[in-house]
Amino acid sequence: MKNMLEELLNASVKKISPEEKMIVEKAFFFAEKAHAGQKRLSGEPYFTHCLATAKSLAKMGLDTETIAAGLLHDVPEDTPHSLEEIKKEFGANIAFLVSGVTKLGQLKYRGQERETESLRKMFLAMAEDIRVVLIKLADRLHNMQTLQFLPEAKRERIARETLEIYAPIADRLEMGEFKGELEDLAFQYLHPEEYRKLLADSAPFYKNLTEYLEEIKPEILAKLKEDDLAPISMGSRTKHLWSLYKKMQKEGGLDKVYDIAALRLIFHEVDECYQALGIIHTMFRPLPGKIKDYIAVPKPNGYQSIHTTVITPEERIIEIQIRTRKMHEEAEHGIAAHWAYVAQGKPDTGGLLNQNKFSWVKQLKEWQKNSGGEDFIESLRIDFFKNRIFVFTPRGDVIDMPEGATPVDFAYAIHSDIGNHCAGAKVSGKMVGLDYQLKNGEVVEIITQKNKKPSNGWLDFVKTSEARTKIKSSMRQR
Ligand code: MN
Repeated sequence: MKNMLEELLNASVKKISPEEKMIVEKAFFFAEKAHAGQKRLSGEPYFTHCLATAKSLAKMGLDTETIAAGLLHDVPEDTPHSLEEIKKEFGANIAFLVSGVTKLGQLKYRGQERETESLRKMFLAMAEDIRVVLIKLADRLHNMQTLQFLPEAKRERIARETLEIYAPIADRLEMGEFKGELEDLAFQYLHPEEYRKLLADSAPFYKNLTEYLEEIKPEILAKLKEDDLAPISMGSRTKHLWSLYKKMQKEGGLDKVYDIAALRLIFHEVDECYQALGIIHTMFRPLPGKIKDYIAVPKPNGYQSIHTTVITPEERIIEIQIRTRKMHEEAEHGIAAHWAYVAQGKPDTGGLLNQNKFSWVKQLKEWQKNSGGEDFIESLRIDFFKNRIFVFTPRGDVIDMPEGATPVDFAYAIHSDIGNHCAGAKVSGKMVGLDYQLKNGEVVEIITQKNKKPSNGWLDFVKTSEARTKIKSSMRQR
């Protein structure tokens, strides 16, 4: 037992203080005792599931309250111990997280209704405390990892729900690694034949390329060392099967997917990344148009890294990715990394984009207050899952909007007054109609007039529920 506890504490990417350690330890033994005698369908003790859930959370760098709640998440539902008892033993915060997860688990609907209901609950939980959803995702990951022990009919339903609800939520929270794992697990249950075929077909490509990358690694490391550069780590990342499957449906043959594996270099500092890029380009010829500097110009979702595709002397095309450790953690763990960072009380210096990166989480609560019932769910579906675009104010602030958003949506996203008096818009210096569909990266300037008022016609083209609600309320007031 002690060993398993040590393993859990060691899995944390954050330093755990002695007091925090005591909380985790207490939760560990409490949950272990509460679930004593219970077994998973795999035959393993039930507690292994609680431990696996907590370990995922520790790996994401989440705080000890979340790790403890991960250990306790099934206690009120599946053991004689009540939520009250957890509150008494562990305090209100941990009890709140556990009750949030318990509530998410209680779904009485089936089919489409069940999906809608489960989405609604996820959104509400997210608006309350994002950590509840992160625990639920960690819980689902382990349930997917042990799905083979469930009866077949259940397997399919859970795998589908994972692909349609949990993976998109992980994606929206920018938890790239997590999303990839969930999708690959769901893939093998939903399309077993395609999965097996792709696994077999792609294996030689993966093997061949990763072996080649291993071969040239020492060469690159030696060259970097000549300039006193030593990466924190240099490994290869392989593409997840589900995303490979989707890419192949678009592009065809496996031999055309160059980034099936890529070399990834991680450094402490940004200038080391650029230095390394320079050195690599003196070793290998870069492919024109394939050098992407997402450090200087982050992707709209805030992703930062340098990507380059080069031709080696053996005439092989390989992709190399270079980034700092912080960029790496954010790319892998998304909001979890972001949350952990904010929770430590450090201001986020990740740049302009990061400040607005997850502002939609805060918006959820507002939306929920202003609209209700079916409307709410439908608009969340659209706002949340549709591709997002990121547009700029003339001052350079970034506004995160759903695809198809118009200058009116943009105006309301800035301020209700600007929306209510919106008379025209300039995009990148040119006048456009108010129903113009904004594109990623455009700079939008709203022209306001004091006596201008929202019109009924705006409701025909606005995309966000925020704009819709505010237009309606302004018209009601008149
Ligand atoms: Mn569970």
